[in-house]
Amino acid sequence: MNIPKSHPRFVSLSIREKIVKGYNDGLVAKEGLLAHGRGEAFDYLVGEKTTKTAKAAIKAAATKLLSAQNPVISVNGNVAALCPKEIVQLAEATKANIEVNLFYYDEARKKKIEKSLKKAGAKQVLVDSPRCIVDKDGIFVADVVLVPLEDGDRTEALKKMGKTVIAFDLNPLSRTAQKADITIVDNVTRGMRLLVSACKKSKPTKTNFNNRRALSSAVSEIKNNLRRRGSLA
Ligand code: ATP
Ligand code: MG
Repeated sequence: MNIPKSHPRFVSLSIREKIVKGYNDGLVAKEGLLAHGRGEAFDYLVGEKTTKTAKAAIKAAATKLLSAQNPVISVNGNVAALCPKEIVQLAEATKANIEVNLFYYDEARKKKIEKSLKKAGAKQVLVDSPRCIVDKDGIFVADVVLVPLEDGDRTEALKKMGKTVIAFDLNPLSRTAQKADITIVDNVTRGMRLLVSACKKSKPTKTNFNNRRALSSAVSEIKNNLRRRGSLA
């Protein structure tokens, strides 16, 4: 589709085109298209820009990833379709492993995602297996796991395994957002780039990030955005 740059929804529609291409290329699941739609709706409410709260979460996430012993980046079809290059750059900047983890398990799709990440420059890509759920050298032994776009049940399972979880989720009310240790309420297409540059600049120091407080300020930012647009008294 040819979208004129002047279109008010240009950026959002271009991201949508990436997801559709990912679906046509066999990377994205049908359910992934719907999950993206939910993300689009929340991005609209957030104002389609990286907020102050998101920037603070990105900073905290960078120091957490840099101080990890065994950081792992968990990738699904949507992430592979939206920001494969940034995933590779982030893995390099933080010495993290990349692991493909699919909620809707499909061997062929997994292979395609693995291939696309390698094409984007990944040297090594770990894969989960239907029996083990996670790769024994990847998430299983990881201390910090970055889940850009994850389902709530899986985030909860990671927490039960004792992992520190960093998530991207545009919905501050989702279970993933609520369960993660650091939630970046931003579109992965914007935030991942910022996370890569934060990791290149930051040092592995301690953070005293409070996710509850951050999520509540993300909700306030949505309210303020609606107020500014005259949709809320
Ligand atoms: P949960 O399972 O955590 O309670 P959910 O069931 O509402 O959440 P899922 O369909 O499991 O949601 O996952 C999609 C989530 O990812 C949604 O919260 C959506 O806002 C978010 N999301 C989708 N696309 C993006 C994106 N590009 N960037 C950031 N977040 C996104
Ligand atoms: Mg869910």
